[in-house]
Amino acid sequence: MCSIPVSAHTTIARLEALVCDLDGTLYLGETPVPGAHEFLERILASGRKLFYFTNNTSRSRDTYFKKLAGLGFPHSPEMLITATDCTLHYLQQHRLGPEIYLIGNRDLQADFTAAGFRCLSPQQCRKVRPKAVVLGFDTELDYEKIRNGYALIQEDIPYIATHADILCPVAGGQFIPDVGSFIALFARATGGKEPVIMGKPTPHAVAAISARAGVPPRQIAFVGDRLYTDIRMAAQHGLYGILVLSGETNRAMLAVSPDQPRLVVSSVADLTNALIPLQ
Ligand SMILES: [Mg+2]
Repeated sequence: MCSIPVSAHTTIARLEALVCDLDGTLYLGETPVPGAHEFLERILASGRKLFYFTNNTSRSRDTYFKKLAGLGFPHSPEMLITATDCTLHYLQQHRLGPEIYLIGNRDLQADFTAAGFRCLSPQQCRKVRPKAVVLGFDTELDYEKIRNGYALIQEDIPYIATHADILCPVAGGQFIPDVGSFIALFARATGGKEPVIMGKPTPHAVAAISARAGVPPRQIAFVGDRLYTDIRMAAQHGLYGILVLSGETNRAMLAVSPDQPRLVVSSVADLTNALIPLQ
């Protein structure tokens, strides 16, 4: 177990909310990180707020909710913040809807439909002009969707991506192409058109987190395993960034990264004892 510096204990003692990344931080695939249950229960027992944040938009909120329940983690709908939530918030704030062209699988479409959006098919887009093109993690992507998305982006319809991760970790230490790879495809095809990006590490994600937590970023810790999303967001937007080495980052990667955390621990288990009751 790592020992945490005294200065970090002092900072953690003042935090009012902890936001945890999921894969690589609290579980690896289907297996909880050892000590994750005790860590999560201590957050709540200490009087702090707990949130989960994921950029992955290939699964609906409901799917994540069931996964948290299945793992035996504390869970409520309010605790879960996804890149989809950030995107819905942005679309509503900018009055971009209800008709949208969503490049996303059926699971993602369910979240947008539940929030009152009408996800047009490529055929419907020929009759009704969507207010926005939303690029999500589409594990059912086909050429018709790519072609329609390209045509709409060329028409300068507001273009939003749920997140920009290039790869997504899957079981067995493997990776699959994520939204960032699709952004590159459309940028290449359109001569460089880029979306407004919603999830980690953008200010749109911080706004969604801060609004949900009801406290400013400086009173919130973000705990995650990925430098260019979790730790970059914390460092650039005033959250207390805690890097766990239980996921994709090792000390060699950390040493050369421009994105530096405020605290590094082996896993979330190292944080449990620092969570003294909030005064
Ligand atoms: Mg992660």
